[in-house]
Amino acid sequence: MFRAPTDSAVFRRYFTTQVLLPIGILVIAVVAAVALGLHWAAGTSNEVSLQRQTRMTRLVLTSATDRLAYEQQSVAAWNQLSGELAKPRLDKIWIDAEIGQWLHEMFSHDLTFILDTDGRLIYAYASGHPNAADSFRSAQADLRPMIDAVRGISKNGAIPRQSRKAQTTALTRPETIYEGFVTEVDGRPATASAMLISSQPAPVGKPEPILVSVRFLDGAYLRQIAAWAMIDGLRFSMEPKAHRGETMVAFSDKTGRKIGYFFWKPELPGTQIEKVLAPIAAFVILIMVGMMGLLARSLWRSGRQLSTAIVDLRASEAQAQHLAFHDVLTGLPNRAMFHDRLEQALARARRGHPCAILALDLDRFKQVNDTLGHAAGDTLIREFAQRLAEIVRTTDTVARIGGDEFSVLLCDANRRKDLEQLCDRVLATVREPFEILGSKVFVGVSIGVVLVPEAGTDRGDLIRKADIALYRAKSEGRDRYRIFTPLMDETVKLRSEIEEELRHAIISGGELEVYYQPEVEAGTQRIVGMEALLRWNHPVRGMIPPDQFIPIAEETGLIVQLGEWVLAVACRMARAWPDIFVAVNLSAVQFRSADLATRIIDIARAEGCDPARIELEITEGVLLDEDHIARGILQTLREAGFRIALDDFGTGYSSLSYLRQFKVDKIKIDRSFIQNLGHDHEAAAIVTSVVTLGHAMGLTVTAEGVESRNQMQLLHAAGCNELQGYLFSRALPAAAIVEILAGRQRLHDVA
Ligand code: C2E
Ligand code: CA
Ligand code: CA
Repeated sequence: MFRAPTDSAVFRRYFTTQVLLPIGILVIAVVAAVALGLHWAAGTSNEVSLQRQTRMTRLVLTSATDRLAYEQQSVAAWNQLSGELAKPRLDKIWIDAEIGQWLHEMFSHDLTFILDTDGRLIYAYASGHPNAADSFRSAQADLRPMIDAVRGISKNGAIPRQSRKAQTTALTRPETIYEGFVTEVDGRPATASAMLISSQPAPVGKPEPILVSVRFLDGAYLRQIAAWAMIDGLRFSMEPKAHRGETMVAFSDKTGRKIGYFFWKPELPGTQIEKVLAPIAAFVILIMVGMMGLLARSLWRSGRQLSTAIVDLRASEAQAQHLAFHDVLTGLPNRAMFHDRLEQALARARRGHPCAILALDLDRFKQVNDTLGHAAGDTLIREFAQRLAEIVRTTDTVARIGGDEFSVLLCDANRRKDLEQLCDRVLATVREPFEILGSKVFVGVSIGVVLVPEAGTDRGDLIRKADIALYRAKSEGRDRYRIFTPLMDETVKLRSEIEEELRHAIISGGELEVYYQPEVEAGTQRIVGMEALLRWNHPVRGMIPPDQFIPIAEETGLIVQLGEWVLAVACRMARAWPDIFVAVNLSAVQFRSADLATRIIDIARAEGCDPARIELEITEGVLLDEDHIARGILQTLREAGFRIALDDFGTGYSSLSYLRQFKVDKIKIDRSFIQNLGHDHEAAAIVTSVVTLGHAMGLTVTAEGVESRNQMQLLHAAGCNELQGYLFSRALPAAAIVEILAGRQRLHDVA
């Protein structure tokens, strides 16, 4: 599995910009909005509250003046006081007790003065002490505007009494005339009020004295007012210096004279709310951030999983892709990929770039597989693939098509000579032994070559032609290469036509016929047997010799049916010719089915033929492949009574040694040796030794292909038992044989 190293970095970047950044911005925006909103709301709330408190403070302070006036009124509107003041001599004791002391004790007034209409002091009482003219002197300047205001009003007799009052409150009676100030008296803040002392009914034209009361707005009184108005920490100072958490309001009296500053600890509901809400908001934000974090984490994880899954998917896709186009055992391109590359090469070939296709097939691979096992076979295939890949250029394609079949695509194969050299190199390298499972294995390779565009540019057609060339290389003995020619194609076409027609002939039956060639006794030339030989009388092509159709029948397996049919016909003839044997040829292909013996026995029985009348001719090829199966079959057949003849003796491999292993009754020396008799000393020597050996083993020795009297004499002299050949007779139809056997026709007439 291969994973791109950049994938995780790419995902990280994607996640940061697409997920983390938006979440971060959102969180910051929410926090900012909440904080600003809270702060703004708190500020606004504080502002409103502060304004209200400031108004309240002013109101409280001014209402203290009203209160003072109200308290004054309790004596100023007392007829007894105006009466007392009207007396020429002031009763000091009475006025102290009833006015100064009473106002002080009852209402805690700090200063009480009574003035006449002209503003001259009549009576003074200060902080519980009578005779306080000094106090008046020091306070006089501060109180003067207020006194003047009341005096001015009272002097102006033209103004209706009702309108003359400077000020009225809900506390004082409507007719009471007074002027109240919050002002500074003797360097201290104070409420002060000047009120006309009147009597009922009001004296017309009579001067009215003035009662002036002062209550200092500091110390206990200020605290009392503050407590009553619920203003926290109310205090007064001349300096505008606020302590921590205090707010202040500058105070001027009615005349615009600056008095000083009142300070208090303001009630700030906004700040209060902020204090309560801020932790909650912080907590909520914390939870939100936490949840966003969790969200981001789970998004990250699932994103990672998804991206990993996608990467894995891509990897397994690539893997599947690789598997789909490569052979697992060798790692080479497979058929699909080879075809793909071939199509590309063909497109180039059409534009004038030649190429070549090689079809390769290992010789003797099956033997390696069967004798050493599949693991060895696999090793051989791998090793072969490697050698092959080393020979070709990297631009060429070596592919495993299946089993022991390989294909090579050679690009730019311009010169035929180079191509032939390459094929020779491949053959040479494969001839080198393969080291497999500790033993040296020798194999070869057959190669079919097709040149493009000479042989065409159609993929399927080219592959077929490469196979034809390969087949040709194999049929010409393997371990070689053949380059495709159009003639090969025709041969192949002919073969496939013949195959088709042979199938048809077997079914219809009419075109096939069994001919018989006599075998004679060497000394007497008496007929001792007949060899059944198949003939095919093709309606169009005429007589097709068995050398042409028997191999095709063997390749296609049709030989099994064909052979059994010949046997059945031969058995029938054996019954008709009681004194001689009938020889039937068995193909090596027939020995591949283990039940061959039983089938032959069944056929003979079905035809009512004694097996002793039948001679079965086999070739050494039968003994070579699958020896134990063949041995069993032969054993069974001999036990059933059939005789076995070894045909074409001398053309095979190590002929004589086989005779020790396989029990046969006869050997037929191949006609190639007979033809050389008289010309070739070696041939005569071979014939002589074969006869000697055969006799030593108790076998009958037959010579086939006897064409001349000279050959006949030599073979007779060498000790051959039986002879067969054109000298005596060709293979003839059954009817002709019947004539010969009946003595109506002599052998030499037909030969
Ligand atoms: P074979 O078994 O060696 O058969 C002998 C062949 O030698 C026959 O050819 C025969 O006509 C030919 N022959 C006989 N005397 C002479 C001679 O003096 N000179 C020359 N030059 N040839 C001679 P045929 O009939 O063409 O058969 C060829 C081969 O076809 C046979 O070789 C045999 O292997 C195969 N064959 C024929 N019929 C059958 C059959 O029914 N079954 C099988 N399995 N093979 C058959
Ligand atoms: Ca034969
Ligand atoms: Ca023969």
